[in-house]
Amino acid sequence: MKAVYPGSFDPMTYGHMDIIKRASEIFDELTVSVLNNVSKKALFSVEERVAILKEATKDMPNVRIDSFSGLLIDYAKANDIHVVVRGLRAITDFEYELQTAQTNRMLSKGAVDTMFLTTSLEYAYLSSSSVKEIAAFGGDISPCVPNFVADLINVKYNRA
Ligand code: ADP
Repeated sequence: MKAVYPGSFDPMTYGHMDIIKRASEIFDELTVSVLNNVSKKALFSVEERVAILKEATKDMPNVRIDSFSGLLIDYAKANDIHVVVRGLRAITDFEYELQTAQTNRMLSKGAVDTMFLTTSLEYAYLSSSSVKEIAAFGGDISPCVPNFVADLINVKYNRA
């Protein structure tokens, strides 16, 4: 069974990596796909985010990295994928995720369903936006992202 884990991944954190690892152990093939969302201002380009994910998952043979724009269900259909994986951290994620999952199910006429993995407790607080905020103010982001990602983030904030 194939699955897609879509997201902004701007940038990928240990929280994302945890979901990727666990989902890759459940599904035969996991495609992590970066959403090219033109309306959201990003720190990293889609190409940079793809490169980071590729490096971080290079030892996971059944994980594929890709990007997409437009509707997730169209992308899933084109790739013959019927399951979407998302991570749930806190109750605040729930309302948005519930609505998105139901919308995707309706739009795809039941062909695309969503499965949720709950965050590992040690990463429950982690989000890409908090990592960026910490880095922007010169804080230590080494507990949040792999070292090579921390270096790339610090370069963006001229703190390398
Ligand atoms: P989006 O903009 O689509 O929410 P994100 O890159 O912020 O993209 O997140 C992608 C997915 O990863 C979402 O399902 C989100 O809930 C999940 N996620 C993000 N951080 C964590 C974490 N620390 N633990 C578990 N899941 C997470």
